[in-house]
Amino acid sequence: QTARAEGNGVAVFDPGAYAQWRANRDLVADLQHALGTDELSMHYQPIVDLETGRIVAAEALLRWTRPDGTPVSPAHFIPLAEQSGDITLLGEWVLGRVCTDLAGLWEAYRLPVTVNVSAHQLRDTGFATRLLERLGQVGLPGAALIAEITETVLVTTVTDAATTIVQLQQLRDHGVRIAIDDFGTGYSSLAYLRELPVDILKMDGSFTSQQIEAGSPKEIAFVRTIVDLGRSLDLCTLAEAVETETQAQRLRDLGCHLAQGYHFARPAPVAKLHELLAAQRSHSSSNRA
Ligand code: C2E
Ligand code: MG
Ligand code: MG
Ligand code: MG
Repeated sequence: QTARAEGNGVAVFDPGAYAQWRANRDLVADLQHALGTDELSMHYQPIVDLETGRIVAAEALLRWTRPDGTPVSPAHFIPLAEQSGDITLLGEWVLGRVCTDLAGLWEAYRLPVTVNVSAHQLRDTGFATRLLERLGQVGLPGAALIAEITETVLVTTVTDAATTIVQLQQLRDHGVRIAIDDFGTGYSSLAYLRELPVDILKMDGSFTSQQIEAGSPKEIAFVRTIVDLGRSLDLCTLAEAVETETQAQRLRDLGCHLAQGYHFARPAPVAKLHELLAAQRSHSSSNRA
């Protein structure tokens, strides 16, 4: 059986590429089955204020664990779900779950949650309305949610750029904040910043590298430039993948506002986040006493 016989558009038969294609196809089929089951779940990673060390938000990250216990990385299956179109259903599932978890977090701690939104989801003209309805149903204001989009959102949807901007604007009019994820890795960061309504610049993890830890002037210059850009545009800056205190200190020195990463906390089920927030609250009330 050749790739050509499968009619998938692969013109030249390459056994390796074919095996990969078939594995991806099987993975997407498994993902479709996983949708209604407990194989899918959400984890939350705290986002801290670099000045005070306090948790001020959390990022919702999708997790998929196969029935045999093997985890599948979202970095692997999300792009496949985007290609197959399954991201629409998957994204709706994520938003439903996040709104449920967020209702508890908001009521107890006024903690906002950031959620990753794929470019494909924003192409749907009903996206923002549905999301706002969902929030309303669980009694949440727009301020409880932050939508993370990547810079590629406009590159991959050039013809739908207007739709995307309208959706983002609608969300923002209702208090939902917009963060640009993986900032600095896209094609033309500056041009998109002018087009998109944005509140938060989320610096890609590659900038929070071992080189900034080692004090490389060039690497530090990149971070400083992004932080300064954020400041002059009146945007909040957030560094991801912070793994050490030295990295956190450098970011703090450069004036970066927020950070997340293994140094502070790993992504974990919502119950863990409640524990951390409860500990933070009792700590601050005992400090006041
Ligand atoms: P992202 O949005 O940039 O998420 C940050 C990634 O960095 C997460 O990977 C997180 O687990 C990881 N991370 C956190 N702290 C550290 C650290 O200290 N060091 C390092 N090296 N990594 C750290 P994860 O959970 O595997 O997600 C990968 C990507 O998959 C995300 O990148 C996002 O683009 C996508 N993704 C995850 N969940 C969703 C979702 O619900 N919807 C959509 N559309 N995409 C999602
Ligand atoms: Mg993200
Ligand atoms: Mg990111
Ligand atoms: Mg990233």
